[in-house]
Amino acid sequence: MKKLGKIGLIGLIASMLISLAPIPVKAVSSANTLAGLRKDLAAFEQQKRNNDNKKKWTQSEIVQKNNDIANAKKEIDASEVKIEEAKQSIEETNEKIKEYEAKTEEVMSFYQIMMGENSYLEFVSDSSSMTEMIMRIDAVEQLIAYNQEQLVTLEDLIKENEQRQVDLKKYENELNSNITSYESKIKELDSDLLELADISLSIEDDIQSQKDAIKTYEQMGCREDETLEACIARTSSNGGWLKPVPKGYIVSLFGYRQGNANVSSNHSGIDIGVSEGTTVLSSTNGTVVTILHTNCGGNQVYVQSYIDGKPYTVLYAHLKSVSVSKGQKVTQQTQIGISGGYSTSTLHGGYDRCTTGAHLHVSVSETVYQSYSNFVAHLINPPGYPKTKGAWFYSRTQWFD
Ligand SMILES: [Zn+2]
Repeated sequence: MKKLGKIGLIGLIASMLISLAPIPVKAVSSANTLAGLRKDLAAFEQQKRNNDNKKKWTQSEIVQKNNDIANAKKEIDASEVKIEEAKQSIEETNEKIKEYEAKTEEVMSFYQIMMGENSYLEFVSDSSSMTEMIMRIDAVEQLIAYNQEQLVTLEDLIKENEQRQVDLKKYENELNSNITSYESKIKELDSDLLELADISLSIEDDIQSQKDAIKTYEQMGCREDETLEACIARTSSNGGWLKPVPKGYIVSLFGYRQGNANVSSNHSGIDIGVSEGTTVLSSTNGTVVTILHTNCGGNQVYVQSYIDGKPYTVLYAHLKSVSVSKGQKVTQQTQIGISGGYSTSTLHGGYDRCTTGAHLHVSVSETVYQSYSNFVAHLINPPGYPKTKGAWFYSRTQWFD
């Protein structure tokens, strides 16, 4: 019973440790047979079809939003014209009111003079008859009534125009806020589009990468009877992690990314916002294990490193050009290449269908590179980067926990 209790306790501690450990990435079987590789290919093709659909949807959404913005801007222009018209109409009405007021005053003063004692006498003496005088008084009274009526109508018109101006201003504000929301929506959609399909490899490219890896490990002097990890540990120098560029911001985070409605994917790394042509340096000391050139990921450099007791493969993708060669030893001062992502995109006359704008994609896999599927199975969130989209880093040594 005592023995079982001890085992039970160990089991409990072990299960506690397991529950505290991060949830492991679901392992994908490393394809080491042709059948397995063919299966991977079918999956790649399915993924490509899904991503093409997502991309089409997002692009049509951007066109739609751009139309919405153009329409909203037109409506604002029209609304501004209407406001101008209303202001002018109010001014004209005010002029008319002034005229009527002047006329009324004239008529009123004439009426007062006429009704005054002296004028009355004058008037009587001037009049050929009493009847004519009464008729004149009547006409004056009617004129006054008419003018007052006109004034009321004009005052109503002014009130109406003022209300119209208030309504139009409100409408204009609504349209402006629509424009703002359309513009932010466009930005969001653009960033979703930056790299929709993620990196994917054809079966031929994966086979090539495996051949490259074997050759690299042979060159490194790995012995037939030692594990690849032991070989990497023995032949690598630990330099920790540096950022590959002196500054940049996080365009897209690692892992599941939810875009708009249908747009979501599992992102294999982080996208760093840098302008095209930026010098990309190696994050780690290590060896270039393979270099691939594909139509989904562009120029890709895979560097094998060993840091603080663990093997890592670091990938730099969508490069405009590459400055290293397969099997080359690199340090953290070695230039890997220069960044691309814009001119390399099929949208801008390039060949890489998995990028839409300038950026550097960095993936980190906690493994010795064997095959692409094995690399994907051990992906981790690249260490030391900001954890929020849009956040900047400003030096190669800046570290974010
Ligand atoms: Zn990416």
